[in-house]
Amino acid sequence: MAVAKVIVDVPAKQTNRPFDYRIPNRLMNVLVPGMRVIVPFGPRKVQGFVIEIAEKSQFPKLREISELMDIEPVLNEELLLLSDWLTEKTLCYKISAFQVMLPPALKAKYEKKVRLKNRSHLAMLPSVLQSLFSNGDVIKWEEVSKGNELSLLQKEIANDVLEVLYEVKERVKKKTIKMVAPAVTNKELQKIRSEFPSRNVKQLKLIDHFIEHHEPMERQKVMSILGVSSAVIKGLLEKGILTEQTREVYRDPYRDRDIEKTEPLQLTSDQSQAIQPILAALEEKKHDVFLLYGVTGSGKTEVYLQSIQRVLEDGREGIVLVPEISLTAQMVNRFKGRFGDRVAVLHSGLSVGEKYDEWRKIQRKEVKVVVGARSAVFAPFENLGIIIIDEEHETSYKQEDNPRYHARDVAIERAKRYNCPVVLGSATPSLETFARAKKGVYQLLTLSKRMNERHLPHVDIVDMREELREGNRSMFSRVLHEKIQDRLEKKEQTVLFLNKRGHSSFVMCRDCGLVLQCPNCDISLTYHRFNQQMKCHYCGYESIVPTTCPECASDHIRYFGTGTQKVEEEIAKVFPGARVIRMDVDTTSRKGAHEKLLTQFQEGRADILLGTQMIAKGLDFPNITLVGVLSADTMLHLPDFRSSEKTFQLLTQVSGRAGRHELAGEVVIQTYTPEHYSIELAGEQDFDQFYEREMMIRKVHKYPPFYYIALITVSHEELMKTVDVTEKITGFITSRLSNEAVVLGPVASPIPRLNNRYRYQCLIKYKREPKLTDVLKTVLDHHQQDMHQSGLQIAIDKNPYILM
Ligand code: ADP
Ligand code: ZN
Ligand code: ZN
Repeated sequence: MAVAKVIVDVPAKQTNRPFDYRIPNRLMNVLVPGMRVIVPFGPRKVQGFVIEIAEKSQFPKLREISELMDIEPVLNEELLLLSDWLTEKTLCYKISAFQVMLPPALKAKYEKKVRLKNRSHLAMLPSVLQSLFSNGDVIKWEEVSKGNELSLLQKEIANDVLEVLYEVKERVKKKTIKMVAPAVTNKELQKIRSEFPSRNVKQLKLIDHFIEHHEPMERQKVMSILGVSSAVIKGLLEKGILTEQTREVYRDPYRDRDIEKTEPLQLTSDQSQAIQPILAALEEKKHDVFLLYGVTGSGKTEVYLQSIQRVLEDGREGIVLVPEISLTAQMVNRFKGRFGDRVAVLHSGLSVGEKYDEWRKIQRKEVKVVVGARSAVFAPFENLGIIIIDEEHETSYKQEDNPRYHARDVAIERAKRYNCPVVLGSATPSLETFARAKKGVYQLLTLSKRMNERHLPHVDIVDMREELREGNRSMFSRVLHEKIQDRLEKKEQTVLFLNKRGHSSFVMCRDCGLVLQCPNCDISLTYHRFNQQMKCHYCGYESIVPTTCPECASDHIRYFGTGTQKVEEEIAKVFPGARVIRMDVDTTSRKGAHEKLLTQFQEGRADILLGTQMIAKGLDFPNITLVGVLSADTMLHLPDFRSSEKTFQLLTQVSGRAGRHELAGEVVIQTYTPEHYSIELAGEQDFDQFYEREMMIRKVHKYPPFYYIALITVSHEELMKTVDVTEKITGFITSRLSNEAVVLGPVASPIPRLNNRYRYQCLIKYKREPKLTDVLKTVLDHHQQDMHQSGLQIAIDKNPYILM
């Protein structure tokens, strides 16, 4: 008897282990680990992943596998093994670990079909299969999966005669456009033309067009190019001369685009020095982690490209991760330009089906390089030669739902298994990474100069308190106002950046810039509008909002924030006639909108680009000579120990947008706290000093990289229950950990109530606690039943990036 060990799709503690199933005869030589199956489980049938095939089982009576879902495994051996590591690392269920590695199409509902790739090969098929395909090239999966044809099928798929198609029932609606086409033949059309009343000039024009071009045309274009109204079109539609069609359009911005082929550039001496250790690691097939530290424009991408080239020459594969937000055409083109169609791209702008197609290219080994956002780190390559993470400090590399993994950790873990290097690149590395590089855990590679010695832009830091004192109540300082005016006159472009995160959630004195802080934690207090209170979300400290500033006694003390829309209105008032493109969540929620707005700006169809974080990256247009940051402080005062780091990174990033080309650039940063080191040092683009300062603060307050942190968030509909459970958990954990660990809680989460659920948390800071993972598992296990019955939720994040 052969037995399959299956992880079933029932995420619960009791089912978080393999179950044994008997393999029916028809699947005997077909089934391999990594395939999905349908199995009976209790009274129902569920999906599961085969993780192992065994000779026998310790259980006497086994149920049988009902159905096979894949003809080829969807997870390779390495990914199956990686799931063990992932479950341990993030405390997730096995099934969640498998699912996160797969493209969404394999989770969505879909129809499976088998297609004969070339009819002329029909005769080559064994007769059982021949008869199935006698009526057409495509048959339903169900027609073959039940019988004994599976192993034959598998062989023909391996021979490339047949293929399996997944037709995804898309949840996202396909985009369609309306087309207008002639409803009759060209000859008939000419006849109609000759009998048509000559006073209908417009309709005649339309008919003439279709006589000349007897093919469908976009309705929108018919109207704009031929200058006819929709009534004119309607007239011909009603007469049955024209007909209307809808056509699906692809939204993939990379399709059908001619991308110019590029050749490797002659590396500068800095670049050669930086790439040498990477190439050496490739040569020796040695795992190592490199930090490629260099300002924007210092030529990091060229180093990535040439490292990958070496990997490809060696017959191996590469993964390049970039933050979703900078996964723009510009970035993708650099990889496609160098490696052509050997590159797959995975990003959220693709539809479910398109993502699946890209994933299939990887699985079938049709591509050698994948460029993608976070989840591309699970690309099913089997001969990995390098993993590159650009902008490694970006917090979007951390997944905030289960499994709460960080792509950097996954990359390093996979690279260890393949004995290959990981390259982390950044101008402003995360403190954790830079500390490791300084300690020699990672190898530090530095690119200290911008290409062509282009100067970093000049940065002005404007004290907005001063502006107020001088009677300027506008959101534009006098300097910024003047410079924008100047750019408008010179027909150069301006980027205005508004940091919206942290909107109106902190309390600040507009006269002296004081932001009210927690006395114990050195974290800004969060403002709560409903009871006019300020709260520390780390230790629970509370205080009422004072009516006058405790520092300077001014009564200009209030909570803070401005939205992009308000800024847009202000621009219209202050700079009448200036053409503005606004980019924020509202204007970019439609697919492809992001790309489109950027293209418009690039083509010079606007003078000012106004936006939130999303414009901080990837912009590389020659005509941008001014960057303005409207209020640098907003992020600084989030209740997050990383707020200074994030502020520094963002300001540096934004400043890097100006003067990347021939025209020199200038940056204006407006702030109420010009003396804050993260703002001052971002102005000087001095990461090294910032690092020193911030490290001191982290040390004093016991934050990473000196301590690890873990966050437990408890939520429930009843406040008392939430507090009670959190209190018990805090007590339990405190009792199990050493005295070196700091356990803070229970305290209300920064978002204390979400969807009618109360949220409390417990924060653990620790250095070495070998028992911690087990203690946390015990916490989860202990509350398992409660979680099922009363809707209690406990989320554990062993490396939180969002502390809300
Ligand atoms: P980064 O990735 O660090 O922001 P890039 O790789 O984008 O820097 O390089 C900045 C600019 O310099 C790009 O236009 C790139 O084509 C160019 N560049 C990079 N390396 C070289 C080189 N060795 N010789 C000439 N130009 C280069
Ligand atoms: Zn004050
Ligand atoms: Zn506090």
